[in-house]
Parts: sequence; structure tokens; C-alpha cells
Amino acid sequence: MRGLICRIISMFIAIISAAVLASQFVQCHRFVEKANASNAHEMNLSELGDRVLIISPHPDDEVLACGGLIALLSRNNALVKVLFVTLGEGFTFALEQELRTVFVSTQDRLRFAKVRASEASKALSILGDTTRNIEVEFLGIPETAMGQMWLRHWGEDNPCVKNALKSCYSHPFTNGIKPFALCADKVIDQLKRSISEFNPTSIFIPHRHDDHIVHWATNVFSLAALMELRYEGKLDGRVGVYEYLVHFGRYPEPQGNFPKLPLLPPKMLSEGAFEGWIMLSLPKDIVTLKAKAIKAYESQRSIMPRFMNSFVRSTEVFEKADTSEHLENGILIHDRLFEPVMPAIRPSADVKSILVFCSGESLTVTVNLRSKASELIAYRLHMFKPACSGNARYNLVVSVRGNGEFHEVVGISQEVVLCQRVSESLVISFPKQVLGGFATWLVTFEVITGGRMVDRTAPIIISIEGKRCASHNEAALSMSCSKESL
Ligand SMILES: [Zn+2]
Repeated sequence: MRGLICRIISMFIAIISAAVLASQFVQCHRFVEKANASNAHEMNLSELGDRVLIISPHPDDEVLACGGLIALLSRNNALVKVLFVTLGEGFTFALEQELRTVFVSTQDRLRFAKVRASEASKALSILGDTTRNIEVEFLGIPETAMGQMWLRHWGEDNPCVKNALKSCYSHPFTNGIKPFALCADKVIDQLKRSISEFNPTSIFIPHRHDDHIVHWATNVFSLAALMELRYEGKLDGRVGVYEYLVHFGRYPEPQGNFPKLPLLPPKMLSEGAFEGWIMLSLPKDIVTLKAKAIKAYESQRSIMPRFMNSFVRSTEVFEKADTSEHLENGILIHDRLFEPVMPAIRPSADVKSILVFCSGESLTVTVNLRSKASELIAYRLHMFKPACSGNARYNLVVSVRGNGEFHEVVGISQEVVLCQRVSESLVISFPKQVLGGFATWLVTFEVITGGRMVDRTAPIIISIEGKRCASHNEAALSMSCSKESL
């Protein structure tokens, strides 16, 4: 009887294993077919020039998304600089596992920051020669402060002290920053200094649609720094800016160790055709090196091996960053649906799209939500004007509750702002003239509840001055949107 049960169990296990293998085979086949049908361009390394800068939010992102690129550039004798914005010391779960502690102190965060920095050095030394053609710099900006600073800590008189104390205010690395009053301006200044010192021919930054708030903030801060450097004439307009993706839903698909499969952009960001994406094919020995470099990040691999192994693929993918200016009449930005956690519970926290347009003498932002705006949520339009020709940086913030009440207004008189809730949309409008002589803006839209940013759209760069605005006409607008991105 016992023998019969054992046989039934082993048959059952064999059937399940066969089913898993079959599904993996079908999945792989589907991905290879997709790759063959792809319209993505093949990356030409010589077009990147001989000084390539990779701005990485955490130690490990540079290897996950650009490990093959770094190894190939290094082999071609190009100079690569990896600029780590944070040291990832805010990843409490990984820290607890690594240091085997549950009561995390500031000292623990510093110890963990050191672990992650040494893993970065080890990983990069696998990919190339760190004494010859791979440079490393750690800015050491406290991880948990990144999103907060973009939201509300501008100016040295308004530092992000709470986060700084929680994290590592005084940085232990000699090649990193000196302790400073943490604020958004300092992050932009540090990025500008580092970029102009290196004088890159190409720059890689996190993708504007990345789910992770530190990656998103790194994208926004990098764009702000690049805009200012261009205005100051310190960055050649021909320097290519590329984006790489790390966190986006279940990306990379399929999850798991499939080194022979190509890494493909998520369907939602590529409309299935991969147009605009650039693919870098990796020789087998480079894939092996990349796998080895990923293994150097033990503190991360021990808790998410499947996710990290999913980046060991036969290709890497990048998208050219959109750093041009828009707003002939309007611009429509789609946001992804079903973002993690909060919007799933509270659909009114989920932005579907935003439409920025000029109508007569007004600038109007229409925010389409997944359900009627909630009074418990703050919806925040943030327009950043980079420093330019003697003008200081300028922030314009209009934050409203779901019932249309003002929550926070900065840089503009509240009296001139109109806000309406129309069905599942919020419409924020103000006179174009209040923007004065400020021509180019970096626009972000954030959703905040319980002090946390739970949704945000990809940043966009718009130019207002010097364009004749069309009359308010939705049909004309949809015809003339200068860009529609997903
Ligand atoms: Zn990261």
C-alpha cells in the first residue's frame, strides 16, 4: 500500500515537473519569436564615444541593466564612469539579513553602505580594469531622502534633516560627498559637478517609467542637472542620453535564469514593436562575465536571486531619453495602470494620464484618474524651471485635495489657480502670464497620501514661451500633440 502511494506521489511530481518544463519551453519560444520580430535598433558602441557615464541609483543597477555594456566598452578601451547616487542603505530587509539584526541603527546603515560599496567595486573589477578604464564615484546621498527632496526640500534653509539622521548624514567614503545640508539643489549641484568633471560623450540614466522611487528621482534629478549644464554651455548638445530599466512590474520576463534568451523591453513601454528601443547583443563570454559580476552583489542576490538572474540575458536594452521640449499645443502622457500596492487598493490614487495644454492665455493640466478623486489624497503638479542665464531655479507647485481644496501652493498666488473635479478627472488651470519669462520647465505629477508618494508620472520637458497657443479645442489638440508617450 505504502509503495503504491509512493509511486502515485512520484508520478504526480513527474507530471508537475513536465508541465513546468513545457510551460518554460513555450515561454522561451514565445520570447525568441518576439525578439526576432523586434524593430529595436542594434546599438553601435562606437556612436557612444570614448567616455561613457552611467548614473546608477544603487550599487547593482549598473550591473543589472548595463553590465554587458560596461564590459564591452572596457574591452574596447573606452573610459567608463559609474556614478552611484546612493549606497542603498535604506533597503532595510536586505540590511537585516546581511547584518543579522532587527533593530537597525544609523551605524548599521553605514556598515551596510560599506558592504554595498565594496560589492560594487568587486562587481566592476570583474567587468573591466578599475585601475585603468572604469572610474567609480559614490555620491552617498541618503537613499530614503531622494524622493522627499524632489517633493519638498529645496534650498539649504529647508534641508531634509529627518531622513538624513535616519540614514547616513556623515558619509564614510573619502571619494564621496562631504556632509552637507541635504536638499534637492545639492543633489543637482553634485550631479552637475560630477558630470562636467568627467565630460562624457554618452550618458545612461534610469528609465523615466521605473517603478522604484529612487530610480524615478534619479531620472528627474539627472534631467534637471543635464538641462542646466546644457543652458550653461557645459554639456555638448550632441551627448546622447539613454535610459535603462530595472523595476517595472514583472520585468524582466520571463523571470529566472535564461541566459540564452534576449532581454526585451516591457510590452507596455514598447507598444509591442520596440521602436525607439536600442538593443545591445552580448557575446557569450560577456554574458558569463555579467553573471559573475551580479554574483558579487551577495547582499542583494541572497534575497532576490530570481529577479537578479533575470538580467543575465543575451541582450541589454536601452531607450533614447527624451530630452527635447514639447508643447506646440499640448502633450498627453500615459501612466501605467495597476501600479503596485496602493493604487490597487485605492484606484483614485492611480493616474491614468495627464494632459498639459495651452488654451488661450491659460495653461491647463487635466489629470485622468482610475476613479473619482479622493479627499484623502493630495494631487500635486510640480513645475521646475532650471537655473538659466542668471535666473535662479524656480519651483511652482500646485497641490490639491480630491475635493478641489488647495493643499499646498508654492511659487504662484493661490488666487490665480483654478481647480475643478470633473467626473474622474482633476482640472488645474492658471494664467500663462504667471510663468513670466520662464520658457522651459520640467514637469512632474505626483500623488501623495499619508506622506508617501504612491504614484507619479514620467517627467516631461515643456517649452511654453515663444509658442502661439491654440484655442481650447480638444479635437485640434489631440491632432497636434507633439508627443504621445507611454
Ligand atoms: Zn536600484
